[in-house]
Amino acid sequence: MNKAAIEELVKRGQELWHAPKEELFRFTGEPEADKLLNDLTDRPHAFVLACIMDRQIKAEKAWLIPQRISERLGGFSIQKLSVLSQEDVYRVMKEPEPLHRFVNKMAEYFYSAVQRIMNNYAGDASRIWTEKPSSAELVYRFLQFDGVGVKIATMAANILARHFKIPLADYYSIDISPDVHVRRVFSRLGLIPAHATPEQVIYKARALYPDYPGIMDFTCWEIGRNWCHTLSPACDSCYMKELCPTANKSR
Ligand code: SF4
Repeated sequence: MNKAAIEELVKRGQELWHAPKEELFRFTGEPEADKLLNDLTDRPHAFVLACIMDRQIKAEKAWLIPQRISERLGGFSIQKLSVLSQEDVYRVMKEPEPLHRFVNKMAEYFYSAVQRIMNNYAGDASRIWTEKPSSAELVYRFLQFDGVGVKIATMAANILARHFKIPLADYYSIDISPDVHVRRVFSRLGLIPAHATPEQVIYKARALYPDYPGIMDFTCWEIGRNWCHTLSPACDSCYMKELCPTANKSR
């Protein structure tokens, strides 16, 4: 096992974890859309609804959906959303052009999420994460939304913990998201085989750092995005090069 590489991944994850909270976390690159998604005080439902939309299309497009709906409706308050019928939501998402590949299904999930926020959290989605819940409880609360599976629920919990610095009682249940960057970096560092399943990636991260398996998520994303490209990885610039069997093999 590449112990030094694991320690480096965790160390970098901890540095990112302790970094000061960014003023505006960049979800989409569109200032107004990012402002809405970062507004956990007055419009926390925007973040929750964007997480729910984040499936089967590019993440950047999914995270733009609250802003596009806000533009079409002239606002994004929970009161405004809560009076819409499922049919209304469908129409808003469908015209003038569809906001999602599966508008029908996503309109159903969107409508159901708004109703859940109204009925279970008195219209204030931030109650999902206030009062320092355990990570398992937080993930479970996201799983209670229609259309949300483990992947979205842990991603949401990880963003809340890491970027928004929402205090939690523990971090055990925040898993790594086995996306393409994580899988490629883990594999090239010799931590998993090249064709490991998503479950293998998740359990490997749990085995490597049980206190907070998701802490390596952003580290891998950063390495994957900046240096560990699918074709022609830029090993000479990557800070993992001395610890990486793939880089050493190609020398
Ligand atoms: S050294 Fe190269 S192969 Fe290894 S993680 Fe970095 S970019 Fe990827």
